[in-house]
Amino acid sequence: MPLRLLPLGGLGEIGMNCLLIERAGDSLVVDCGVRFPGPEMHGVDLVVPDFRPLLARRDTLRGLLLTHGHEDHIGAVPYLLRALPALPVYGSRFTLALLRQKLEEFGQGANLHELVPRASLKLGSFAIEPLRVAHSIPDGFALAITCAEGVIIHTGDFKIDETPLDGEVTDLVRFGELGQRGVRCLLSDSTNAMVTGACPSERSVTPGLAEALREAPGRVVVALFSSHIHRIQQLLDLAAAAGRRVVLNGRRLDQNVTTASGLRLLEIPPGLLLAPEAAGSIPARELLVLSTGAQGEPRSGLVRLATGTHPTLHLEAGDRVVFSSRQIPGNELAIAALQNSLARLGVDVVAEPDHHVHVSGHAYADDQRLILRLVRPHSFIPIHGEARHLKAHREIAMSCGVPGERCLVAYNGDVVELTHAGPRRVEQLEFQRAFLNRATGVGLPEQLMKERQLLAESGLIAIVLVLDAVTGELRQPPALLSRGVLPPDPDAFWKDTQRRVTEELAEMPHALWADFSALEEVAARAVRRYCKKVMERRPLVLPVVVKTHG
Ligand SMILES: [Zn+2]
Ligand SMILES: [Zn+2]
Repeated sequence: MPLRLLPLGGLGEIGMNCLLIERAGDSLVVDCGVRFPGPEMHGVDLVVPDFRPLLARRDTLRGLLLTHGHEDHIGAVPYLLRALPALPVYGSRFTLALLRQKLEEFGQGANLHELVPRASLKLGSFAIEPLRVAHSIPDGFALAITCAEGVIIHTGDFKIDETPLDGEVTDLVRFGELGQRGVRCLLSDSTNAMVTGACPSERSVTPGLAEALREAPGRVVVALFSSHIHRIQQLLDLAAAAGRRVVLNGRRLDQNVTTASGLRLLEIPPGLLLAPEAAGSIPARELLVLSTGAQGEPRSGLVRLATGTHPTLHLEAGDRVVFSSRQIPGNELAIAALQNSLARLGVDVVAEPDHHVHVSGHAYADDQRLILRLVRPHSFIPIHGEARHLKAHREIAMSCGVPGERCLVAYNGDVVELTHAGPRRVEQLEFQRAFLNRATGVGLPEQLMKERQLLAESGLIAIVLVLDAVTGELRQPPALLSRGVLPPDPDAFWKDTQRRVTEELAEMPHALWADFSALEEVAARAVRRYCKKVMERRPLVLPVVVKTHG
């Protein structure tokens, strides 16, 4: 079997990164993330990849490699391990520490192994070398995966930061060395392919954050990602310098700060942290709250602050909330609602682009060019991005000399073969995702999601047909019940609907009346058609047939 790649997530979307790599007798998975539901995914907490291709390869699967600890890379691991509990999982120290927290919550055991930069690991007929990359979370890796067919470099998520807070720079030297020996295929982070120039250093936000703290007359809340340890470090240092004590608002933030300081990835100035219950005992201008919820997540610490439902903290006019994170696509409305709640309280909102209080953790176009020139890959596949990002990154690769026929934009579910002529799409799996309810862990099937969408958009109409058990005829006109449906002239509409259903049923051959599902279908179709005609809507129609004696 030739060398093949099968993306199960992250290609054609932001989030849910998961890639299968396989060759004769061996396969590997890189990352296993979640994505957050879009506004059309009603009642869904999390979206995870369709694991069936992985389960089908359980005999050849040598391990799961994690590039870093973001949710879109590790969030679905507990769900995968439920199905494949013995699968070995590899990742950096911090990545595994974050994963352990998660697995504990799930009560899920795991077979975890730590990776060290530049230390090669054999997995079946693959050799894996982790390469250090800078990103918006500590201890991230790119992976150089070597097999008989050549070397594949998977960048993970990366940026090029020559002055990172922890001094851990992207290992450009090693990228260059591998490039000199020949790289079969480069898979590279496309998130910021449409942003020109080079991404600024994490340190570039220091002045903006310092100013936001210095000028504020009252409390300052900074909303950020709980895994952005370097941003947290900057804010702890700035708070200490500005004479503010720090309260951590959010369970995950608390956990991550404890984990990171335990691994010495975060240094907490002594006496700086304050318990939330004690926040009321110091003047407002001496308080800095670090908070989760920058994406407007319901029930998050920041939403509770904005809605006045927080048990120990509150905000008032003159306080300030700084959004030190990007808006994940799809969350714009929730974030706007949150900022409106804050504005109603008279709270000052500080955010991009007016204030430089956030910088990306992903390479911009010029950074991507640098990687392409160092690696000089035989072929190129853009990963981690929506279609437009992948397309832009392909063009960047071509501008760096990778021939067009060897640059492939692939999407989730594509089976890609790495041939000598370049990557080729040889098959397309019917692609599915699992929509999860976090509490039950139960996946909602695609059909159910369609029903929920119909319900949300157009409401529900139930139609009840009561048949005489002896004659098999309708005993009364069809009864109609509805929820969330408002026709222009309701009385006329329901009468007309009833009449149309009766007429359509009358046209059915009598022999078919014994078949309830045929009756249901004819009745439902009549209702749907009429709704379409009158309201240009297709409500969910629920037909019910009842047989009655006497
Ligand atoms: Zn990512
Ligand atoms: Zn990431």
